[in-house]
Amino acid sequence: MNPKGFTTRVLNVPYSKGDPYGALQMPVYFSNAFEFSNADDLSAAFMGTKPAHVYSRSSNPTVEYFELRIKDMTGAPSVTACASGMAAISNVIMTTLAAGDTILTTRYLFGNTVSLLESTFAPFGVQFRAADLTSLADVESKIDSTVKMLFLETITNPQMEVADIRALAELAHRYNILLVADTTLTPPYVFDAKSHGVDLEVFSTTKFVSGGGTSVGGLIIDHGNFDWTKNQRIAALVEKHGQLAFQVKLRKEVYRNIGACLSPMNAFLQTVGLETLALRMDRSVNNAQKLSAWLQGHPRVSAVNYPWLASSPFYEVARRQFGGKPGALLTFDVASASECVAVMDRLQVIRRATNLNDNKSLAIHPFHTIYSEFPPEKRRAIGIREGMIRLSVGIEDFEDLQADLEQALAG
Ligand code: PLP
Repeated sequence: MNPKGFTTRVLNVPYSKGDPYGALQMPVYFSNAFEFSNADDLSAAFMGTKPAHVYSRSSNPTVEYFELRIKDMTGAPSVTACASGMAAISNVIMTTLAAGDTILTTRYLFGNTVSLLESTFAPFGVQFRAADLTSLADVESKIDSTVKMLFLETITNPQMEVADIRALAELAHRYNILLVADTTLTPPYVFDAKSHGVDLEVFSTTKFVSGGGTSVGGLIIDHGNFDWTKNQRIAALVEKHGQLAFQVKLRKEVYRNIGACLSPMNAFLQTVGLETLALRMDRSVNNAQKLSAWLQGHPRVSAVNYPWLASSPFYEVARRQFGGKPGALLTFDVASASECVAVMDRLQVIRRATNLNDNKSLAIHPFHTIYSEFPPEKRRAIGIREGMIRLSVGIEDFEDLQADLEQALAG
C-alpha cells in the first residue's frame, strides 16, 4: 500500500538502515565520527564511491532521517538540514552566488535577512536591491545582468504581503534567475513550492516544525526546477551530477566548510515535530481564522491583517497558493502606542514573546521591539505602526484566546 495522506506518510518513512532493536523512533546518534572495518571502505566513503557517514559536520544518521522525511513529504531530489533558518539562507547564497552578483528581493524582507545581505554579504561583493514583488513591472524594471537570484518570502512578516509566486517564477526563469523562497510561515504541509516554480525552498524549522518552540533549525530544499547550467558556480558540475549538481556543491563544499549543520538532538526533536505538524497547523490556522474575524468586529481594533480575511488585498492569491491555510500569524492595530503597550501588558494567556508558530500564542509589538533599531520613518515606510500588535496564534482552546483578548482590549 502507498499511503497518500501527509501525516500517514510522515509517520511511515523508513530508516535508511533498519534499527537492530526495532525502535519506533529513530535513535539519536550522538557520535561525531563513524568507524570503518577496513581502510578501503574509509577511502571509498571519503571519495563518495561508497556513501557512508564519516563525520557529523557533513552528515549524521539522525539528521539524515529528518532530511528523508522532508524528501518524502515534498518529493524533492535533495534536502539539507542546517543549524537555523539563517544558516539555510546563508548556505544557499554562498553556494550559488559570487562577488558582482545581485539578489533582487522584497521591500519587506525579514529584519535579520536584511542585516545578512546589507552587513554580512555586501562587503563580499554580493549586493541586493528591493522591489515590490506584487508588481511584475516593478520586478522586471529592477532586473539587470547582475541579478542572479530572486529571493521572496511566501508571506512577509509582519506586513502579510503575498506575491503571486508562479508569475514571479515565470519572470525569473525567463531571465535565468534562480527563484529562492523563504517558506517559514507556510511550510510544505500548506505550500507546494515545486508546483509554484520555486527552485530552492529555505525555511526556519525553529517555528512550526519544531513542535512547540523546542529547537532551532533550518532546511534547504532543491525542488529540481532550475537548469543548473545557468548558474556560474554550479554549471561545471552538471555534466557529472545532473539534477544533483546543486546538492553536490552544497554538501561537498559549502555546507561542510561553513559547518552550520543541524545537531542530532535538534534533528530528533524536529523529526518528532513533523509527526504532528498537520494537526498543530490545522488547529493554529483555525484559531487564527476565528480570531481574525472576531477582532475585525471589535470596536477598539482599527485594522486586522491576515491573508485569510476577504478584506486582505492578498486574499485571492493566498487562497490559491496556500489552500485556504495562510499560516497562523496576524496583526491588529489599536489606537496608539500607549494603548498597544497597555493591551500587551494585560494579556494573561497569550505570552509576550518573539518567535512564531510555537504551540503557545505569542504577542509582540514590532514597532518597539523587532524594528526598534530602524529610524521611526523607516519603520513607518515598511508598514510597521506604533499601535500594531503581531499575534502568532497557537493551539490553545479558541474560547480562552478570545476571552484573553477581550479582557485585554476592554482595559
Ligand atoms: N525567515 C523568516 C521569515 C523568519 O521569520 C525567521 C525567524 O524568525 C528566519 C528566517 C530565521 O530563522 P531562524 O531563527 O531559525 O534562524
